Amino acid sequence: MARLVLKRGADVRIRAGHPWIYRGEIADLSGRWTAGVAVDVVDAGGRFLGRGFYNPRPSLACRILTRRADEPVDGAFFLRRLRAALDYRGAAPSSDAAFRLCWSEADGLPGLVVDRYGPISVLQCLTLGMARAIEWITDALGELFPGAPVYRLDDATAARIEGYAAERGWIGPAGPDEVIIAEGPSRFAVTLGGGHKTGFYLDQRDNRARVAAHARGRRVLDGFCYTGAFACAALAAGAAGALLLESSGEALEGARRNLELNGLADRAELRPDNAFDALRQLEAAKERFGLVVLDPPPFTRRKEAVEAAARGYKEINLRGLRLLEPGGILATFSCSHHVTQSFFEEICRDAAGDAGIAVRVLAPLTQGSDHPVLLNVPESRYLTGLLLQVG
Ligand code: SAH
Repeated sequence: MARLVLKRGADVRIRAGHPWIYRGEIADLSGRWTAGVAVDVVDAGGRFLGRGFYNPRPSLACRILTRRADEPVDGAFFLRRLRAALDYRGAAPSSDAAFRLCWSEADGLPGLVVDRYGPISVLQCLTLGMARAIEWITDALGELFPGAPVYRLDDATAARIEGYAAERGWIGPAGPDEVIIAEGPSRFAVTLGGGHKTGFYLDQRDNRARVAAHARGRRVLDGFCYTGAFACAALAAGAAGALLLESSGEALEGARRNLELNGLADRAELRPDNAFDALRQLEAAKERFGLVVLDPPPFTRRKEAVEAAARGYKEINLRGLRLLEPGGILATFSCSHHVTQSFFEEICRDAAGDAGIAVRVLAPLTQGSDHPVLLNVPESRYLTGLLLQVG
């Protein structure tokens, strides 16, 4: 097997449990290697550190898969890791429940995401190594979920960086175009191969339940609604009404569909609009809400742009707070990787300060427990939020 030798000192982070090796940290690569195939990683003194898929093309050239010298990366390896991931999640509440089965680094499979939508698996390869390991992965899924259709939905950006063709379609026998999943009392339609992420924001499931617990009798504003999951959860929990804002017509159609599916459409208003403009207009029109949800897309994916992103977060949170009636609740989120919980809190504090409103923190919020966070890999946490109440 090929041997990747790290530069002196580059082993420190790896020994501390972080799995990433950048191209600039590599001193030497000896033996026959193929891009996307596992190599042994050793420190400058030749001591074994781990084994991972190597790809010379991206700057993040290797991610450690195992730290055991006697553990080959093969089909049995993938089955063990995916079985462990399934065990960690425990039993699904129902056969039509949806959850993330595998969250990349946090499940010991850097570069692989697998989501379960009822009886269907949707997988996403984020590295060349995972794309090459596709048969091992589908075989393992076949063992864990016999006969379950598997949809592959690669991330186009990752595929370009890593140098493989992003696949989109069924592997093996085709499944349905759409699946109806259950979440709490709600049902949601998910189009396979359509929309954002793998089709649905599974990471917000626990937060939707938390927010719904405050919804009874309140008028709700779902500011960046996608397919309306927060609004549906709130209305199902007894919200008086909901206004849903969304800039994508396709997403808004999905929201309409979900409201109808749950018999909630008569209490909801859908508005195709830029939330920044709509929030301003609502404020000018002196509209008020008892519950505001702000779950925007990442305002930045780059560390250098984090200050500009902060201005965006501050603006929507300032407006969101101003739209609340006394005692009203704001559930606010950031899914920008570089916006930490403490930075997000600072941004919201600035917004509350500018609004001149006393705000109580009911709870910090984060991604659901099926998107686990590895303490050694801070990058595995990307969703941060606050549940706030105005005085
Ligand atoms: N809360 C949702 C997920 C929201 S994702 C859920 O639980 O399912 C963020 C959404 O904001 C996306 O659907 C995106 O299309 C939308 N969006 C992005 N920019 C926007 C803007 N300026 N105004 C309104 N919606 C926007």
